[in-house]
Amino acid sequence: MNITVTKPFTPPIAEFQAYLKGIWDREWFTNNGPLVNELELRLKDELDVNHLLYISNGTIALQIAIRALDLKGEILTTPFSYVATTSSIVWENCVPVMVDICKDTLNIDPSKIEQFITPRTTAILATHVFGNPCDTEEIDLIAKKHGLKVIYDAAHAFGTLYKGKSLLAYGDIATCSFHATKLFHTIEGGAVVTSSPEILKNMAMMRNFGHTSATEFGGLGVNGKNSEVHAAMGLTNLKYLQDILATREILCRQYKLNLTNLPVVFQKILPDTQYNNSYFPVIFQSEKILLQVMESLNLNSIYPRRYFYPSLSELPYVNNQTSPIAEDISRRILCLPLYHTLSSEEIDMICRLIKRSIRY
Ligand SMILES: *Cc1c(COP(=O)(O)O)cnc(C)c1O
Repeated sequence: MNITVTKPFTPPIAEFQAYLKGIWDREWFTNNGPLVNELELRLKDELDVNHLLYISNGTIALQIAIRALDLKGEILTTPFSYVATTSSIVWENCVPVMVDICKDTLNIDPSKIEQFITPRTTAILATHVFGNPCDTEEIDLIAKKHGLKVIYDAAHAFGTLYKGKSLLAYGDIATCSFHATKLFHTIEGGAVVTSSPEILKNMAMMRNFGHTSATEFGGLGVNGKNSEVHAAMGLTNLKYLQDILATREILCRQYKLNLTNLPVVFQKILPDTQYNNSYFPVIFQSEKILLQVMESLNLNSIYPRRYFYPSLSELPYVNNQTSPIAEDISRRILCLPLYHTLSSEEIDMICRLIKRSIRY
């Protein structure tokens, strides 16, 4: 059996089927159905946030967030994230301006933000990379001082608490992804979170084609809804959240124990964080060593992924920007396999192979 970087959490099929039976009985598949409503309520409760909308996926969530804040011009963002963080900015006709990252936390470096602010800057869009909180205090201060909006791409952040609050509670808007590869998933799906009732109203309208009622439109919208079947998967999986978080903590602890004393660096998690262990990234001393490790693992049917490579500053539609730290880290970082059913024997085997190939 292949060991891949991630595998979706698969709940007991009977529990999912029970929800499906209800969907069949009601003959209600999408358009703000009862399961979508229930999932939104349960997620708000779980995360203890004011307003949350369930969205078709994390990318549309980002695009709706940018639109709902009416952002124009330049958006300061991180080069070290999944491509959707940058592509949604460009898709919404704004210009991404890359601010380099901190080499320890892998998040946008607040001390480098201000030098990139121009009269055209309207917002900061930062990713809580691998679920590690950005320095939200510093980012907030800078945003307030310059009148900028803040969006967090919190696609990895579900389950992380920062200063006792869900990481999704930070920013003017936080977006999340519930894609099958994420810690908590609804197969495809995402969310937008805000504490502002006005922003919520705007996003709710935009999620549903701009409708404000069956016959009225409040503005431009898109189809950002999600279905009853996806919500059913979310409701089924939500019951296992604590179990998922606890298992990942054990797996990551084992990885760390096995890999200490090797010339590898782990991501530094911000203090005051209850971390969700959503990924297990390892930074090697050189790209050459990383490729050696990859080759040896691949030969044994183990498939880690180069998250995130290449650096988004190197995208063809991002012009003339360099982010030396992100570009360097991108070449040397590997996310090791991490999923609910990964066994401790498999972790031992992965670590043995890594040790052996580093020694070459
Ligand atoms: C997964 C991911 C997204 C996109 O989410 P989808 O639900 O797949 O559209 C955006 N940003 C980051 C950082 C991600 O990891």
